[in-house]
Amino acid sequence: MKNKFENRICSYCEVEFLPKRSNQKFCTSACRTAYHNKRNNAKRKELAKFFKPIEKQYYALLGLLNGKKEVTVHKEYLRGIGVNFSLFTHIHFNEKINKNCYALHTVHYYKVDKEHYKICTND
Ligand SMILES: [Zn+2]
Repeated sequence: MKNKFENRICSYCEVEFLPKRSNQKFCTSACRTAYHNKRNNAKRKELAKFFKPIEKQYYALLGLLNGKKEVTVHKEYLRGIGVNFSLFTHIHFNEKINKNCYALHTVHYYKVDKEHYKICTND
């Protein structure tokens, strides 16, 4: 029986194969899966460069809260545990204190005086 399509090269393993469908790019489903896993792993690795520091800082601040709604911490202590004050996911204006709060997800921080920061959560 003659096949409807001409042989083509698998986009993953680069071996020639006879396609069953007009848009088939891979010789087997294993090659299709391997191709997408490889592409998604590369994406994840790239995104991890941005998200790892945010994740680390989020858990560091959450650890300081230790279940409390808010804590006041000396800025040098925060620097000591690796807090980067230019790293946050968003800023929101807190009308109660008339100040910008820097937030990582649900944990916020803002300067209370020259030396101290308040860490708080709305959770
Ligand atoms: Zn293949």
